[in-house]
Amino acid sequence: MYDATRVTRAGVPEAVQGEAFLQGPVFASAFHAAGDPSAVPYTYARFNNPTWNQFEQALSELEGGEAVVFPSGMAAVASIFGTLLRPGDTLVLPSDSYYTSRVIAQGYLAEMGVRVQLASTRGNAQLAHLEGAKLLWLESPSNPGLEVCDIRMLAEAAHAQGVLVAVDNTTPTMLGQKPLELGADFSVASATKALTGHSDLVLGYVAAKDSTLLSKVRAWRTQQGAIPGPMEVWMAHRSLGTLALRLERQCNNALAIAHFLSRRPEVLEVRYPGLPEDPAHSIAVRQMSYYGPVVSFTLASREQAEKFLANCKLVYEATSFGGLHTSAERRARWSGDIISEGFIRFSAGCEDIRDLLADLEQALATLS
Ligand SMILES: *Cc1c(COP(=O)(O)O)cnc(C)c1O
Repeated sequence: MYDATRVTRAGVPEAVQGEAFLQGPVFASAFHAAGDPSAVPYTYARFNNPTWNQFEQALSELEGGEAVVFPSGMAAVASIFGTLLRPGDTLVLPSDSYYTSRVIAQGYLAEMGVRVQLASTRGNAQLAHLEGAKLLWLESPSNPGLEVCDIRMLAEAAHAQGVLVAVDNTTPTMLGQKPLELGADFSVASATKALTGHSDLVLGYVAAKDSTLLSKVRAWRTQQGAIPGPMEVWMAHRSLGTLALRLERQCNNALAIAHFLSRRPEVLEVRYPGLPEDPAHSIAVRQMSYYGPVVSFTLASREQAEKFLANCKLVYEATSFGGLHTSAERRARWSGDIISEGFIRFSAGCEDIRDLLADLEQALATLS
């Protein structure tokens, strides 16, 4: 089956007369479990929950590896760092990765004696730092710069030196890019963004082909206790069924917007891996099936960016991305990313492209 079909059925049980298509959330802390606990699938809800299992089954089918769900993307990221890295180990991290991943690495991990080696996503620059490393962390396309690296090539080079590879796959989702098929050991993502796409929950997950590696991640969740609520997990599963529908519309809108912006004199630079002239396109076209909902572009100044956002009528000024409502923000209002003051991270939603382009047109016109 094709992905657009598979998302509608992923993790959904076989049809049973008189039962719902997808079982509702199971709210429990303890389950009936008399006698030998190893003979009972559910005992205590920090260990396991049927609503997680349904969703993890869905993620497994789509990722091509076993999955463990976490209460946020960061909890998922931290579980890989926490299970693999020990004092003296080296982590190779993108210098342009999601800011909080760098905060954990350069703060907590470095303080505990992990060597953190930063290199940019662009140009596969992390390749030069693999010697003696324990874990290669990739993020492609990177958030918010939308740089792309060659996942297959980097994973092969890393494995040749005994280095494990994790890919933060948040921006494209597993429908846009499949890290495990490209050779990574771990695919990790925030499900808060495009994967669930309704801006109504925070969630994350880790998937891996090797069940020994993944069982360590699962034990980490059980023992550290960062577990997701069943309601959020069920909502995520419900949203997953429309992922292909949403992503197709959002990516078509993103490409049309990127084309539009690239012809506007007010815009200094546009980045979108789906644009044929984008520096990331030649690699992206080989490893991605959707280029994602995010377009990044740069206006001349902080004032221009603020004015543009204030004058958009259809674009929510908000952080996060990937939702069905188009949103954007001037990214430099947060610290941590190496970007200019006029840099805008724009997330294309599911609206009619004619309305979006008209809104952008009138908002840009107020700048000159
Ligand atoms: C949002 C994000 C995260 C963190 O996810 P949360 O669900 O906010 O914890 C990690 N990586 C990337 C690339 C993200 O965009």
